[in-house]
Amino acid sequence: MIPRFKPRLGWEEFKALFRRNSGAVEEFENRFAEEFHGAAAVSFPYGRSALWAFFKALEINEAEVVMPAYSCNVVAHAIVLSGNIPRFIDIGGSDYNFDLERLPTAINENTRAVIATHIFGYPMDLDRLESIVAEAEDRIGHKIWLIQDCAHSFEASWKGRPVTTSGDAALFGLNIGKMITSIYGGMMTFKDSNVARKVMEWRNQNFRKPSRTKAIKRRIFLICTYLAFSRALYWLVWLLSEKTKLLHSISDAYHLDGKIHFPPDFQDLMLKVEAAVGLKQLDKYREIVEDRRANASWYFEHLAGYDDFVIPPKVEGATYSQFVLRSKDRKKIMTSAARKSVQLGMILEYSIPHLACYERFKDGEHPNSLATSLESINLPVYFERGRLRERNLLRVLRALQRCNTTTSEK
Ligand SMILES: *Cc1c(COP(=O)(O)O)cnc(C)c1O
Repeated sequence: MIPRFKPRLGWEEFKALFRRNSGAVEEFENRFAEEFHGAAAVSFPYGRSALWAFFKALEINEAEVVMPAYSCNVVAHAIVLSGNIPRFIDIGGSDYNFDLERLPTAINENTRAVIATHIFGYPMDLDRLESIVAEAEDRIGHKIWLIQDCAHSFEASWKGRPVTTSGDAALFGLNIGKMITSIYGGMMTFKDSNVARKVMEWRNQNFRKPSRTKAIKRRIFLICTYLAFSRALYWLVWLLSEKTKLLHSISDAYHLDGKIHFPPDFQDLMLKVEAAVGLKQLDKYREIVEDRRANASWYFEHLAGYDDFVIPPKVEGATYSQFVLRSKDRKKIMTSAARKSVQLGMILEYSIPHLACYERFKDGEHPNSLATSLESINLPVYFERGRLRERNLLRVLRALQRCNTTTSEK
């Protein structure tokens, strides 16, 4: 079975589980800030905790925060749970990101922040984004915080400029489904080191030291991840997740259970062991992005001419953390691919304002977000360079071909 995603974990990360790792958290923050062009970085147990703490530390309360309708719902959770109001913007035409045309009218006197999400690794137009926010600040007469949500993109770039360099802060998610992982974990980088200090001080006063049990559980979780993604066992994981509810608590229920709430440990400090694993992953980051770009290019080249699904946009500077097709026959394509031992995924199968718990914040129809949530299929795009790469890509292609009846032979 080819898994729909796979963390790139090796011997180095494994060894980090058994060290003392003293000072690893500070080292991870420093290296992270360096790597992603921040003046400083502050670590958290989840990406959502970072955003929540940012609003708390800066006393942003009862304000509107603009964000995409099509994104991870934990971002909206962070806005609501910090006492603020999410204001959703629909996807535009050319990629999966929110429509910048709609941004000026979404900002009003009550807006204190804009979250620009570079979804699936697609960079937003930073020039337009920044000028819209600056104009709105002039019009309204107060600061609007611009936060780059890089949980998907990491360092995508717009016209050669990394998205992490735009705005006041950049948010990263580090769970095992992300580009690089620290088991769980989140990070925020800042343009201004004074703001970073403020958020860090607030965190230190309000977050607690994680329990020893949690440190052990996280180690066990990572060891299970190694096993689960091993070639011998992945079919079993697939079977359990398809046919039973056994793995539900670490997949869907992780963030999608119909309620606006956070996990009980969301106010823990990052564990040393998490940071130690994250440091090893950071070493691989550039290589991982290069491989994803190469795999995406391969798909672009070989998927042209299919009419069962829509091919994603090809964008300069995208990191392709996900390679997302669209089809009205999603179910059929996924089932047929699984029969050929290729697992396809639905990375974001909901539109946030259409979730029952966000009903009260829904202030528009957001049709593109809804349609995309019902049609998106993500292909495995993590393959490492080397002998097996082409073979794996071909297997994915064949799995798609089988269900594609109208394609001309290539
Ligand atoms: C994963 C993710 C986050 C952060 O998620 P956590 O699970 O809280 O670390 C934020 N934004 C987007 C778009 C994401 O996909």
